[in-house]
Amino acid sequence: MACGVLGTLALAASGAHAQDAPPPADPAVFRACLNQLKGSTAFRAITPATFAGATDDLAPDPSVLVLLNRQPEFTMPVWDYLAVLVDEERVADGRKGFAQWLPQLKQIEQQSGVAPNVVVGVWGVESNFGQNLGGRSLVQSLATLSCFGRRQAYFRGEFAAALRILQEGHIAPEKLTGSWAGAFGQTQFMPGTFLRSAVDFDGDGRRDIVDSVPDALASTAKFLQNAGYRRGEPWGFEVRLPAGYDTSGASRKAKQPIDAWRRAGLTLADGSPLPDTLPSAGLLVPARGGPAFLVGRNFDTLYSYNASENYALAIAQLSNLVGGASDRVDFVTPWPTDDPGLSRAQNRELQTLLLARGHDIGTADGMIGSKTREAIKAEQQRLGLKTDGRAGQKLLGRLRAGG
Ligand code: CA
Repeated sequence: MACGVLGTLALAASGAHAQDAPPPADPAVFRACLNQLKGSTAFRAITPATFAGATDDLAPDPSVLVLLNRQPEFTMPVWDYLAVLVDEERVADGRKGFAQWLPQLKQIEQQSGVAPNVVVGVWGVESNFGQNLGGRSLVQSLATLSCFGRRQAYFRGEFAAALRILQEGHIAPEKLTGSWAGAFGQTQFMPGTFLRSAVDFDGDGRRDIVDSVPDALASTAKFLQNAGYRRGEPWGFEVRLPAGYDTSGASRKAKQPIDAWRRAGLTLADGSPLPDTLPSAGLLVPARGGPAFLVGRNFDTLYSYNASENYALAIAQLSNLVGGASDRVDFVTPWPTDDPGLSRAQNRELQTLLLARGHDIGTADGMIGSKTREAIKAEQQRLGLKTDGRAGQKLLGRLRAGG
């Protein structure tokens, strides 16, 4: 699992409150645990000097244990993810990045088979084109998670991988920061994923997914290639279903030859026949009554980046919109909602309106956290709207109108 964006957005939809008391992380227990790890098999490739340099003055960070234990309290519908992850701002930034790095992206495609617009789509969803890398010390987070909490065996492997990255000199210690769970760099790789997939594309001897855009783009492509990406195939396409088609058994995993889908009456969204660009595909219907997609092997590689169909679909949609002008194709079927989600700019506007109404939600940063959700609930109740804490167009419209 590469696993970056889940850390950022899932937090926005979770019940992690800053005021929650962190679970105890006793410094003496931490020190004894580190001493034990130092001599264990998982750390055999780490020299005593590397281990000591990274851990001698290290204190545990109990706040990551709060995040490890959080329970989701709010399930975002797929259209809310897409509203944030594929907003106008990100599409514009993606087109800029595509044009700026096209020579490198074409070379990367020659080597890996992965199309330039797909690489840019992943880059935009994972790290906002290198602008959101996460600021937590990986060593501190992973050491804490290796010694306390419920997934210690997994995090010990990632901690050892992080020390290996430092030992090999790919990333400077002060640059090795990321999400609470250890995803880092412009690709938001976990350290173990880095060791398997990171590439030194610019040839300076370091696999630097933090500061080198070419390294980050080539590493993303390598990850997708390792996951089974097929050169020349699209991720899939939006389709139109025949009237009355039963989508209850739809699954991207139940793949059939394209001809079988033709016989079942499916067409492209504009009614034209299904192309032969995919040998086989599964039917993905993220929300009943909304757009439907036939997706192939390459969609599965996007899925493997975050183990989430919603994120894979966000990458797919963004990749459709950031390539060359003649290749752009957006989804056409509307999502089944009368209250669409908000872009990042609209989230900031909503927060500004909430601040103006006296809600103590900090700054208008566009991140809908638990404080913003509480304020939204209060306003929804006052205005007689459904009190679900969700940031949507209806509430924004009412507050804009001074409601
Ligand atoms: Ca490099």
